Amino acid sequence: MDYDKKELIREALKARTFAYAPYSQFLVGAALLAKDASVSSGCNIENAAYGPTNCAERTAFFQAISKGKREFRAIAIVGGKNNEMEDTFPCGVCRQVMQEFCDPEEFEIIVAKSEEEFQVFTLAALLPHGFTLKKE
Ligand SMILES: [Zn+2]
Repeated sequence: MDYDKKELIREALKARTFAYAPYSQFLVGAALLAKDASVSSGCNIENAAYGPTNCAERTAFFQAISKGKREFRAIAIVGGKNNEMEDTFPCGVCRQVMQEFCDPEEFEIIVAKSEEEFQVFTLAALLPHGFTLKKE
């Protein structure tokens, strides 16, 4: 399945505008493309108690999964403090959530600073030997 990376990055940038990050000021947006071509986006949502904080990537995944999506193609992630965009890689917890629902060799993670400046990794590259109970 081919898809438009720039369009997915644009959706992530849009989601980032909704980030709730009063403690870190590190605003993150993510846009998750399902294999049915639908896009679910998410932002990071911080909390005064820190522990309840949720990452943009998991916000996007949980939104998609709760709408019945189970198969995914790619996720675009954009982040940075204020307007200083920097390469924002998914944390270990988010990588493990991706492992649960995605084919590690096929699922693509787009780490973007802008529509023009981005890198693409497979989940297998970012989470080698990831834990799973699923049979291949
Ligand atoms: Zn995370």
